[in-house]
Amino acid sequence: MDTTHLTKFYKKKHTDKIEALYLAGVISKKEKETLLNRTLELDSETGNHLIENYIGNYSMPLGVAMNYVIDAEEMVVPMAIEEPSVIAASSFAAKIIGSAGGFNTEVTQRRMIGQVTLKNIANFEEASRKIETAKQDILSRANEAYPSIVKRGGGARDLEVRILKDDSDSGIPTFLSVHIHIDTQEAMGANIVNTMMEGISPYIEELTGGTALLRILTNYATECLATATCVIPTNKLKTATFSGEEVRDRIIEATQVATIDPYRAVTHNKGIMNGVDAVVLASGNDWRAIEAGVHAYASRSGQYRSLTTWQKNDTGDLVGELTLPLPVGTVGGAISIHPGAQLAHSIMNHPNAHTLERIIVSVGLAQNFAAVRALVTEGIQTGHMGLHARSLAISAGAKGDHVQQVADILKHSKHKNLQRAKNILLNLLEEFDK
Ligand code: NDP
Repeated sequence: MDTTHLTKFYKKKHTDKIEALYLAGVISKKEKETLLNRTLELDSETGNHLIENYIGNYSMPLGVAMNYVIDAEEMVVPMAIEEPSVIAASSFAAKIIGSAGGFNTEVTQRRMIGQVTLKNIANFEEASRKIETAKQDILSRANEAYPSIVKRGGGARDLEVRILKDDSDSGIPTFLSVHIHIDTQEAMGANIVNTMMEGISPYIEELTGGTALLRILTNYATECLATATCVIPTNKLKTATFSGEEVRDRIIEATQVATIDPYRAVTHNKGIMNGVDAVVLASGNDWRAIEAGVHAYASRSGQYRSLTTWQKNDTGDLVGELTLPLPVGTVGGAISIHPGAQLAHSIMNHPNAHTLERIIVSVGLAQNFAAVRALVTEGIQTGHMGLHARSLAISAGAKGDHVQQVADILKHSKHKNLQRAKNILLNLLEEFDK
């Protein structure tokens, strides 16, 4: 990638942005033409096959975040999101972090978890023992239910038995849950896992004498974790009103608040998901699955907490860390058929699933840094409303150059609302007619 073409990317015109991505080697000539001709559309035949009662496409803006350095690799990251300021904040944070060495990431092995949950078990200890004794047999039967994943190098790897007992007086009976850990290779694996769980459940019923109630993967993918860290010296943190040390300490304190207060933690983590969801969506992955798993992971201590930690190291630098369950895939689902997802994978240079996890967790950490830094310094509204002004201008009916003109006046107005945007536009149009 030749990043010289990407300097001051945000200042370029729409067509020049696309040309710059082409010249930098981020997109191919064909992809450039697709973007310029605005033909990045899901065709109706594919849409009709993808979902039921298909009536059309619902568009979402696709942008790129700049300045990412992930494991010493420069990256442009595609993001599908409708919220103003997210991509600007992402690129801003990535620039600061990139100038300090970038993100370092680690990933665990990728194992999805399938559950067969049983009711009507007479003796839980005995049923558990029988399942554990038959472990190899159960794993083989799971693999027989989906042989192609075994041929691809994956398959069922491990088994765990859990007795689900509610200690309160809720009247809920005890259930037995059999977990199978599955290597789904490059796929997120929901369908692979679900097929395996349905395949093994009759045998598990036979072994335990119980009745299989549920046979599906869990989206709480605790065996598929990705971690990003970054180290930011204080000289990169100072603002017009705060020293670098003050900004560092305020970021640490703000994260402490999000660690102890769920009301703050939810918003803190929403900021992380602004980045995570945008890449998950752009890459054609199942963002509901990621959302559900991430928020469960935030509650793993028994209380919903901040997903990030920000601390000070021995030399006084700010050190950030984020770990997320990220069962994303590079094949399967809509990924191989959605033109937007294909473009997104191409922009990221066709990462494998592990690399995609590394990219997404880094974006989450950058997004959190940007949001918390803004919150504890100038406040979130300065940057946010500046960009939000453009959305208001569009909602007020502004077109072409008028969008920026209305937004510029709105930015300096006391009341930044739709009515004000409409009045500004009216004034501009009247001026124009004179
Ligand atoms: P698919 O059902 O599309 O299965 C993966 C496909 O990718 C298989 O056809 C497989 O081929 C193919 N493939 C090609 N190369 C590879 C490779 N290197 N590694 C692995 N597979 C490869 O997708 P998933 O099983 O990943 O399921 C994801 C979908 O399931 C998403 O659309 C999701 O929304 C949905 N879903 C999610 C649920 C949840 O999260 N709770 C529940 C149900 C569905 P082959 O078969 O030949 O091996």
